[in-house]
Amino acid sequence: MRAEIKNQITQMNEQGVGYKKIASELNISIGSVRNILKEKDDSTCCRFCNKKLSFIVGKKKKVFCSDSCRYQYWNSLKKVAK
Ligand SMILES: [Zn+2]
Repeated sequence: MRAEIKNQITQMNEQGVGYKKIASELNISIGSVRNILKEKDDSTCCRFCNKKLSFIVGKKKKVFCSDSCRYQYWNSLKKVAK
């Protein structure tokens, strides 16, 4: 499947479009939609820079790619609060 279609599925899902509707809009099966969204759930991106993270199974899930991103993320939250 083309990356373009995967992106479209992801985007539509984020907008709250249901599996059935995504499948019919893009002319693919519901099973394919489900598989792609499941694949996406298994990978996490850095909350700050959106870089894809890979982590070792069994270890605590990381949400930032580096300490500097974590610091900047919390810093930006503080600024918003003020
Ligand atoms: Zn990062």
